[in-house]
Amino acid sequence: MRIAVVGTGVAGAYLLNRIPKEHTAEAFEMRTEANWYTVCAWGTSQPFIARLVKQAGFNFDDYVLHKGRRMLVDLGDEQLEIKLRGLVTYDKHRLTHDMLEGKVVHWGEQVKHVDGNMSGFDTVVDATGLQRSLLPKVKSDLIIPSLEYQVKSKELPYDDFVIRPYPGLTGYWWYFPLGDGTAHVGAGDLRGRYRGELDKFVKDYKCEVLRRIGRPVRVTPPKLCEPFFDGKVVGVGESVGTVYPMLGEGIIPSMQCVDLLVEHLGDREAYRKAVLEHFEIYAKVYRFVRAKVDGRFSLLRMWPTLLSIFLYMHGNSERYGLETRMADFYKIATRL
Ligand SMILES: Cc1cc2nc3c(=O)[nH]c(=O)nc-3n(C[C@H](O)[C@H](O)[C@H](O)COP(=O)(O)OP(=O)(O)OC[C@H]3O[C@@H](n4cnc5c(N)ncnc54)[C@H](O)[C@@H]3O)c2cc1C
Repeated sequence: MRIAVVGTGVAGAYLLNRIPKEHTAEAFEMRTEANWYTVCAWGTSQPFIARLVKQAGFNFDDYVLHKGRRMLVDLGDEQLEIKLRGLVTYDKHRLTHDMLEGKVVHWGEQVKHVDGNMSGFDTVVDATGLQRSLLPKVKSDLIIPSLEYQVKSKELPYDDFVIRPYPGLTGYWWYFPLGDGTAHVGAGDLRGRYRGELDKFVKDYKCEVLRRIGRPVRVTPPKLCEPFFDGKVVGVGESVGTVYPMLGEGIIPSMQCVDLLVEHLGDREAYRKAVLEHFEIYAKVYRFVRAKVDGRFSLLRMWPTLLSIFLYMHGNSERYGLETRMADFYKIATRL
């Protein structure tokens, strides 16, 4: 099979290293190599991602920047301390770029349809993330605007992960250390309340801004991102909604989605079912987030949903790299 991989984010780059040898693959990336960048806070769970990265032939430990011990969750009137179990930041840009090394990548080629340079391929993978350039638009997509600064300073106020959820759980502000006096300070919020906050941080802590980046995140779950196919196009990663809605966490899920695609290459219905099943909990988390955002949240009505989300997070501490305690979860979910 001749496969075109459109988009070289984490999903596209990982896929290029996971496609079985009997197939050939070429990648198309709309940015030039010099302008290409992995917009992200670079936070992930080391024990979990290390296994995925190893499958692609890389050693994750070589890319780790900061190993977290605890995460401060600032609720305004109270600060929670969450024990971390493998949450780290890593040089996502370097690892993703290394994954493209030796592959055929057509830089600076924006693909908008499957005619022209796509016509010689049997399968075209839409790994374009938020853009979802080759698949039909998602109806009532939930997209959270975000902005992030990569900063450097001798006066950084924290030595570990910090997040501050916005009232209504419409997003959160974050501080992710990157080692060597650098950090990602950013925020994603449906109501854009972070405007001014990042600049204030830069001023207060005398930061040099190394990079200003931002793009919205799709938190619509796979269940609401169908179809995953259109003709010879098949979607993978954030283009089909693999972002955990409460956290905006999309690195590991995009890679898991790639593994499902590789496992079911050539059998679309099996891939579709596998994605819907694997990311089933995302639809529940989305329902909760949506209810909060729309001001429709009722503890009485939603406690079974909340309980199943808690049990899922609690049982997957290695997957998310953090310990989830009932009392903390309850406060975050209900107080804001
Ligand atoms: C500010 C921010 C912080 C985040 N922080 C975290 C975090 O700390 N941890 C975490 O797990 N997740 C995080 N996420 C989410 C995570 O980064 C994404 O969900 C994940 O990168 C999605 O991977 P992807 O490969 O599907 O898409 P992307 O990484 O978006 O890659 C898509 C690629 O396709 C290219 N492209 C788009 N359209 C076309 C086209 N028509 N033709 C050719 N190329 C095209 C783009 O240039 C891009 O290179 C964050 C997201 C944002 C925005």
